[in-house]
Amino acid sequence: MEHVDVLIVGAGLSGIGAAHHLQTACPWASFAIFEARDAIGGTWDLFRYPGIRSDSDMYTLGYSFRPWSGEKAIADGDSILQYIRDTAAESGIDQEIRFEHRIVRADWSSVDARWTVTAERADTGETVVLTCGFLFSCTGYYRYDHGYQPDFAGMDRFGGTIVHPQAWPADLDVSGKRVVVIGSGATAVTLVPALAESAAHVTMLQRSPSYVASVPSTNPAAHLLHRVLPARWADPAIRWMLALGTQALFQVSKRWPGVVKRMLRKRLERELPPGYDIDPHFTPRYDPWDQRLCAVPDGDLFAAIRSGAASVVTDHVDTFTETGLRLTSGTELDADIVVSATGLELLFLGDIVVSVDGDEVDLPSRLAYKGMMLEGVPNLALAFGYTNASWTLKCDLTCDYVCRLLNHMRDHGLAQCTPRNHDAGVTAKPLLGLSSGYVQRSADRFPKQGSQAPWQVHQSYLRDWRVMKRSGIEDEALELVRRPTSGAVSPVFAAEV
Ligand SMILES: Cc1cc2nc3c(=O)[nH]c(=O)nc-3n(C[C@H](O)[C@H](O)[C@H](O)COP(=O)(O)OP(=O)(O)OC[C@H]3O[C@@H](n4cnc5c(N)ncnc54)[C@H](O)[C@@H]3O)c2cc1C
Repeated sequence: MEHVDVLIVGAGLSGIGAAHHLQTACPWASFAIFEARDAIGGTWDLFRYPGIRSDSDMYTLGYSFRPWSGEKAIADGDSILQYIRDTAAESGIDQEIRFEHRIVRADWSSVDARWTVTAERADTGETVVLTCGFLFSCTGYYRYDHGYQPDFAGMDRFGGTIVHPQAWPADLDVSGKRVVVIGSGATAVTLVPALAESAAHVTMLQRSPSYVASVPSTNPAAHLLHRVLPARWADPAIRWMLALGTQALFQVSKRWPGVVKRMLRKRLERELPPGYDIDPHFTPRYDPWDQRLCAVPDGDLFAAIRSGAASVVTDHVDTFTETGLRLTSGTELDADIVVSATGLELLFLGDIVVSVDGDEVDLPSRLAYKGMMLEGVPNLALAFGYTNASWTLKCDLTCDYVCRLLNHMRDHGLAQCTPRNHDAGVTAKPLLGLSSGYVQRSADRFPKQGSQAPWQVHQSYLRDWRVMKRSGIEDEALELVRRPTSGAVSPVFAAEV
């Protein structure tokens, strides 16, 4: 049976990053990437709705090892996809990807100190089985086959078109059409100004408001640093500046929410038309960063509202009608196209069934070790990014740690590393500290974080940088098992065979 030292699951932003780290820091390790779809890029290949872009800056969403060199800090989806593809092609990572291989099972054997991994091929229907010493999950955090679609009353009698942004029809023409976008999250605020460029009118229909802030699409400080410093200094300086800046805003929001609310309100007063009724549409009931803050580049959403091409309605859908939507207030919204920007359906570990020594692991009951390994699950790490900053900041740290761990195991003849909690005082909390509907809906499907280190998820780049980059591998919560010189355990890394 085929064996690789490390099997990476997923060829999205994280999987390609993980492969690069492995190639560079563990050149001895053989690896393969299994990707369920037929393309590189994950999120940035799947989502094709008009206006798709990042909402965090590319200097931190890009990789530390291949700094973003685009003109804009907030980049469009195509540029991000191209960046991931180019990264993969540059060092031959794309040659290691097995497309249309969806991993469905991973079974750990402590006797053999290896995973037996089962994948299903979408193209041939074949089942592929191989073994690996270490499993690195880079599966993202949501299902790919469909988004979250509430079952609104009367959907079947609507005479127009209903679309979900996760399955945007390439040939959908919105020109001259009346469009209603249901939602108030990052996707809705991206779609509204993009659709408003050609639609007759776009209405953003939201149940409740979100915090929305205009951010510049280019970053003058980053441009200045690039002009005055050599790239090898400017790139890390820009990354740190933006990572710490985002973190500072998050901390200030948590400590002094009133200050941040007033600041955001002042900006809205400048951006929205005079006399605009801000409270019902842009003043949420929660504090800033209890849910993700929506960033709109160069205030494009507000410009669309000012021009009259777009408007916001805050109400509830009572029912779809033949010609649009009736709201609980009794208001009727006529529509040719309704976009259900109602979000993602979260999924943990790409729906892979995991067993350890014959026992299926109940993943939601496990604690996450340093936010990247799972209690009681050997030789497995996951790339899981921040909810309050760029995803890649955390994934880069995770990849760096995993490579250090693999090198440590190899140098010390270790076969198995398993996070174990020995402290009965550690209590479990939700992994993701956001109150957003999509997070709450799925909290029971995700592992937990603990009340104390190393089980806490900090959502802080600075703290993680210290914990993941500066601390040693040896830790009483990480059980490391030596490979016996003789006996049943076979070498964990094929490169040593
Ligand atoms: C519309 C949108 C905009 C976003 N914008 C930002 C942003 O601006 N900033 C930010 O930080 N984050 C953003 N995010 C979060 C975003 O998902 C991450 O930034 C990042 O792209 C995640 O990369 P990933 O590789 O970890 O996961 P994904 O991009 O989800 O890729 C995962 C890959 O794994 C594959 N896979 C999954 N399960 C299996 C399996 N069982 N077997 C084999 N392959 C599997 C999938 O097919 C996919 O290719 C956004 C998300 C969305 C949906």
